[in-house]
Amino acid sequence: MSTVLEIKGLKKNYKTVKALKDLNVKVESGTVFGILGPNGSGKTTTLGIVLGILNPTAGSYSWFENGQKDENRKRIGALLETPNFFPYLDAVKNLRIVAQVKGMDKTKVEARIEEVLKIVNLWSRKDNKFKAFSLGMKQRLAIGSALLNDPEVLVLDEPTNGLDPQGIAEIRRLIKDIAAKGKTIIIASHQLDEIEKVCTDVLILKEGVPIRQSKIDELMVVKKEVAVSADDMIKLQSIAESSSLITACRIKENLAFLEVNEEVNAAAINKMFFEAGLVLTELRLSKKSLEDQFLEIIG
Ligand code: ATP
Repeated sequence: MSTVLEIKGLKKNYKTVKALKDLNVKVESGTVFGILGPNGSGKTTTLGIVLGILNPTAGSYSWFENGQKDENRKRIGALLETPNFFPYLDAVKNLRIVAQVKGMDKTKVEARIEEVLKIVNLWSRKDNKFKAFSLGMKQRLAIGSALLNDPEVLVLDEPTNGLDPQGIAEIRRLIKDIAAKGKTIIIASHQLDEIEKVCTDVLILKEGVPIRQSKIDELMVVKKEVAVSADDMIKLQSIAESSSLITACRIKENLAFLEVNEEVNAAAINKMFFEAGLVLTELRLSKKSLEDQFLEIIG
């Protein structure tokens, strides 16, 4: 697996606003890499910098292990905001203009437009004017436009923003189809379920700080949590902290929340405390949802 994008020590200040504070990221080829964070966490700023639209305050990035050379840009298709197509021209004519702007080989343009319109499921609407398209269709045409010169990487910023549920489902399916053809996709989103549904890897950003980068499967591991209580909470905490059954312990008022591995059950926890000389007055199981984990991670 080769590295498609490497970001090192990236910082961006907008006057007094520190939008990015020391970002280090590696995106491997063939992944669907999600940048997840709430509004204002620095997602668009990150994409703007690596696409050469914004200058970083400090740090560097490298595409395809080939530095920041202009020639890399031809290998990247990007969709940062809903692009302006010509409203009175149909899908094919709009894409012809894009092909011209991208300097594509004229002899290959028509075949590629057909191919791309089929990928984004707009071939049957190829003769319709852009202004007659639904928002979801406009967004799919925009993705088609980004794919036109067959880039190795597709960069998408909030690709389903403003779409209805059907439009969202279509875009997500399209992203998966494109990924299945071996393309690397980098996608910024503030929606946890979007990242969860389409990505293989995730970077969580909060106020310009990378909080966590992991495989999505690792983030998806649902942690099992047990809430317990006893008359002597100090003794409870000390037993919990030295037990091999418990991976984390957090005390909130007179309850202790113990994170345990999936195979550990309530009876085993009860027995462990009893054998250590403590009788629990309360014990209940609670699973932490992915959403809880995300909220905990971003604080
Ligand atoms: P959103 O999803 O709302 O676009 P984001 O995660 O993409 O959020 P950015 O747009 O990168 O975040 O913004 C990061 C921070 O930088 C925010 O505090 C934002 O207000 C600030 N910011 C972004 N662009 C500018 C600018 N041109 N001038 C001043 N501050 C800016």
